[in-house]
Amino acid sequence: MNEQTPTVAMEKITSLARRRGFVFPSSEIYGGLSGCWDYGPLGIELKRNVKQAWWSAMVQERDDMVGIESSILMHPKVWMASGHLKGFSDPLVECKSCHQRFRADELTEQKCPACGGELTAERQFNLMFKTFIGPVEDGSNVIYLRPETAQGMFVNFDNVLQTTRRKLPFGIAQQGKSFRNEITTGNFIFRSREFEQMEMEYFVKPGTDEKWFEYWLSERVNWYVKHGIKREHLSLLEHEKAKLAHYAKRVCDITFLYPMGWAEVEGVASRTDFDLKQHAEASGKVLDYYDDETKEHYVPYVIEPAVGVDRALLAFLCDAYAEEPDKEETRVVMRFHPSLAPVKAAILPLSKKENLSNFARDIYKNLRTSMATQYDDTQSIGRRYRRQDEIGTPYCVTVDFQSLEDNRVTVRERDAMSQIRIPIVELKKTLLAKMDGEDFLVVPPGGEVVQSKGKEA
Ligand code: ATP
Repeated sequence: MNEQTPTVAMEKITSLARRRGFVFPSSEIYGGLSGCWDYGPLGIELKRNVKQAWWSAMVQERDDMVGIESSILMHPKVWMASGHLKGFSDPLVECKSCHQRFRADELTEQKCPACGGELTAERQFNLMFKTFIGPVEDGSNVIYLRPETAQGMFVNFDNVLQTTRRKLPFGIAQQGKSFRNEITTGNFIFRSREFEQMEMEYFVKPGTDEKWFEYWLSERVNWYVKHGIKREHLSLLEHEKAKLAHYAKRVCDITFLYPMGWAEVEGVASRTDFDLKQHAEASGKVLDYYDDETKEHYVPYVIEPAVGVDRALLAFLCDAYAEEPDKEETRVVMRFHPSLAPVKAAILPLSKKENLSNFARDIYKNLRTSMATQYDDTQSIGRRYRRQDEIGTPYCVTVDFQSLEDNRVTVRERDAMSQIRIPIVELKKTLLAKMDGEDFLVVPPGGEVVQSKGKEA
């Protein structure tokens, strides 16, 4: 494992998230609810962008993939067949004096970490949330909130196969909420009881699974890097063969260097034909594939990359965070990849005078139909730049009195603080091109570079 030390303290991330409205504790006015979080106005934009980046890479840009959205409540037999009712548990111990509960596998000593008291014997605690379906609360109506989205893909395997006429290899992807009654939560949104997953089941011909496992592992690592994670902050952790779940042939975690250390952001698992076979047996339905090249029926093997949206989002927050010495104070800048930045552009008129405001508002109205845009006309331009830096807005567009004459605006780039002045008619196209990777200092006709590296007061 990589020996690096974390680059940012968790308090910096949680305090920025709270201050700027990315993430709030759930039900905060009532003291919060343990293991649950609410996404604020900027957090939801960031979260939607993370999900869109995944959906785009996993579904939209591929020929071999389809998406679904299955329900959170599923037939209880699903969890019987999948093995969750029997085996989806963690070892629990309780302190005999203070009654706090802990995960036995996370303790280093055989005494209570809170008060030093004696612990009970270990017992298995099932992590699934139970509730009742329908108006009668009795045992026959017990139902579970799903602890993963994956089973939705397995139970719909044949529906997808029949309706889309897919050939192997192909995948089914899903994003959605999952619930786990974790014994201990913590590290901000890293481990919560209600969270969101992005999972994909890739069905392959048995015998080709090793090749596809390697393929997906590298695809997934590349996805993080493409969207702003530093490669040196990612590592692969192969699970020992002897400790694998009975159905898994291979599992490799993609770990990220979080503020509390290396931890799993995503798991890639080779699940063989276990899930489809279990559901075929339990439901009595045929869940196999007819290969019209070899004229055989077989049950496909499955490769599953599974990631938590919240854990990925926390990784993106951590790697975006930067502090730079500034004239008076420190410049905090979130260096989000433009694809993830919650706000792409800010329109900043240099004065509140009516003629300039109306002019700037028209630019704002036009731009916001293509990208998330903010309008800000309060306080000095320097302060407004800093506010946008802190939420990671890649482009600030200043509108000055000269703009009324020459129909041009100044665009300032967040990281190098370079500035270009370009015709307003070119603004939308230019910003879209920059977000797509065009060098910032390339200007459209009628434009010029004002400052190639920023020096701001
Ligand atoms: P861990 O060992 O950290 O509990 P896991 O191996 O049980 O995780 P999986 O069942 O493989 O996790 O779930 C796939 C992904 O879902 C994880 O990589 C993680 O990103 C996310 N995830 C799982 N549990 C939680 C949770 N309690 N809170 C937030 N995200 C979670």
